[in-house]
Amino acid sequence: MSRVPMDGQKNCRRCGRQLHVTMFRVFRSYGAADREYRRSWCVECEREYGRNWRRRNPGYHAEWSRRYRSLVP
Ligand SMILES: [Zn+2]
Repeated sequence: MSRVPMDGQKNCRRCGRQLHVTMFRVFRSYGAADREYRRSWCVECEREYGRNWRRRNPGYHAEWSRRYRSLVP
């Protein structure tokens, strides 16, 4: 993590592309309004990661509950 640059380019740690800083989400540390950080992943990578996670997890839970139900009459 690094301090938020106001402008310029930043490399995404996931896809490796060099993108404008606005392509990275900002988050704040609790209790420190002056501490803002950019994510090390670009918004597209975060979106893709979130999509994959959601796609994996409902399937996982469905599979788990199916097995569980099969054990319980
Ligand atoms: Zn990326």
